Amino acid sequence: MIENSADVVWHWVDEFSDLEKGKLKAWLIPTLEATQKTLGTFPFDVHLHMHRKEKAKEPVPWANTWRYPHQSIHFHVDPSYKLEAFLNDWTAPHEMSHLALPHLGEDHAWFAEGFASFMQAQVMRTMGIYTDEDVKNKYVSKVTKAMPLLDSPSPPAELFRELRKQHEYPAFYWGGATYFMRLHEMLKEKGSSGLPELVQRYMECCRKGSRRLSDVLASWDRLLDSTACQSIFNEYSEQPCRNVVSKALADTY
Ligand SMILES: [Zn+2]
Repeated sequence: MIENSADVVWHWVDEFSDLEKGKLKAWLIPTLEATQKTLGTFPFDVHLHMHRKEKAKEPVPWANTWRYPHQSIHFHVDPSYKLEAFLNDWTAPHEMSHLALPHLGEDHAWFAEGFASFMQAQVMRTMGIYTDEDVKNKYVSKVTKAMPLLDSPSPPAELFRELRKQHEYPAFYWGGATYFMRLHEMLKEKGSSGLPELVQRYMECCRKGSRRLSDVLASWDRLLDSTACQSIFNEYSEQPCRNVVSKALADTY
């Protein structure tokens, strides 16, 4: 067991050689450590299920999390790619970040995906793949690129559900990420190092007792002695998307 790290339970669903297993471990173990260094130690074992996908166009063409009966991630990988290609891929930091929050349900999928999209860049910064400047540029460029689809009078929560139905995934993911960009900048202005620090505290006190989104927002606000997390969330249910997204973008610049 690694200190300050959840135990990993490996499930080799398909056959992998010892060499391939070594490479996949050399990718996922440091990624899980960086995720926990960024977001706090997971208060549960993490089950990693490894599936083989031959002749893929990228090292990790597909991955998803399962929350029952364990906190699990299923990775579909092409082990012919080099270790470096795996380490530079955003999928594992994204999926591992999902585990920091409970399953939030279909209605709040934008919040879950926005969180993981925001945090994948923070984890990759911890891994030394991105600089602070890279992270900021990533947020600004992803949201700016999605802006034509986000420039709407509809409230974000409603618009994001629609974008998801239309398979407009980058706009759905990065539109959701603007909630966390906004919160991150607000926390930094108050002297904190930002959202990852809040999530670390949440992981320690409250992750295990959290069942739904209302629990997460209540814990965060309690830790901050504030109502900001719920208030910004309300804006995402009520105000025009173009206004809230522009605000997040302006705060991040
Ligand atoms: Zn995701």
